[in-house]
Amino acid sequence: MTFRADRHVHILIIGGGVIGTSVAYHLARDGAKDVLLVEKAMLTHGCTWHAAGLVGQLRGKRNLTPLMKNSVYVFDRLEAETGQHIAWKKVGSLRLAGSPERWSEIRRSMTQAKSFGVECHSLSADEAAARFPYIIRDGIEGAVFIPGDGYIDPYSLTMAYAKGARMFGAKIEEGVCVEEIVIHNRRAFGVVTNGGVIPPVNNGLQK
Ligand SMILES: Cc1cc2nc3c(=O)[nH]c(=O)nc-3n(C[C@H](O)[C@H](O)[C@H](O)COP(=O)(O)OP(=O)(O)OC[C@H]3O[C@@H](n4cnc5c(N)ncnc54)[C@H](O)[C@@H]3O)c2cc1C
Repeated sequence: MTFRADRHVHILIIGGGVIGTSVAYHLARDGAKDVLLVEKAMLTHGCTWHAAGLVGQLRGKRNLTPLMKNSVYVFDRLEAETGQHIAWKKVGSLRLAGSPERWSEIRRSMTQAKSFGVECHSLSADEAAARFPYIIRDGIEGAVFIPGDGYIDPYSLTMAYAKGARMFGAKIEEGVCVEEIVIHNRRAFGVVTNGGVIPPVNNGLQK
């Protein structure tokens, strides 16, 4: 396999959905050099395009709550930072529990969320209905209201991350499909794409 020395990167990101562009944005913003994102079709062509865009910080898994809290923190500044409209509507969310078991699960998540500084309020069925009158109160054991939740346009968010990533020096190439990851001595030494091979910087294999 021939590696071209003129085509190398430190960090290659495969896939231009909301996750890939977010990773590119955060790395480039933190000063990473030679960041390249390749997308086989166009940005947002995967799952991201289909997402409803609901942003909820209450999570069952411990590591996901701070991650979502940080996402909200980023959404709060991203539009001003990049100039790209993201339709971030921080309207809050209501999560309803329709059984005692679900209510106890939600309360456990609330305790965890509060320990990470996420503002959340426990509500009765009547208090929840006061916020959203269409709720049928029968069988509702309790509810949680999270003022910092909301919804966002996933397409625009991805475009904002991409714009921010480029602003901080990352490169994004659409129409580039990764066809193989080259493994050498159990390490990844580049990728084969439909547009040629991309080796990492200083991998010792360039010719
Ligand atoms: C109907 C629906 C509703 C949803 N609602 C919500 C919601 O309300 N809230 C929420 O948080 N999440 C929601 N999700 C989940 C959310 O959409 C995904 O978690 C998120 O979009 C995943 O982003 P991603 O960047 O990992 O993946 P993707 O958006 O799928 O991006 C992967 C990208 O990689 C590219 N790619 C794949 N293979 C290659 C290759 N070999 N070379 C180059 N590029 C490649 C693809 O073209 C694609 O663009 C929803 C999902 C669906 C389907």
